Amino acid sequence: MFEKSNKSNDNKPIIQSHGYNGSEPTRICPKCCEEKPLSDFGFRDMGNGTIRNQSWCKECRSRYS
Ligand SMILES: [Zn+2]
Repeated sequence: MFEKSNKSNDNKPIIQSHGYNGSEPTRICPKCCEEKPLSDFGFRDMGNGTIRNQSWCKECRSRYS
């Protein structure tokens, strides 16, 4: 279960980013070792106001969950 952050813009995602086509940040999935845009990962609310990106990409999560 994960939902988009719609509480406040103060909750900035903690992301590992270095750009994706000059716009969307990317992350390297530790499972498939592919670099994908963060929208392929989704986000998780840690419950204390911290939003983190999921560690695995959606593809891997759906494959192994
Ligand atoms: Zn993956």
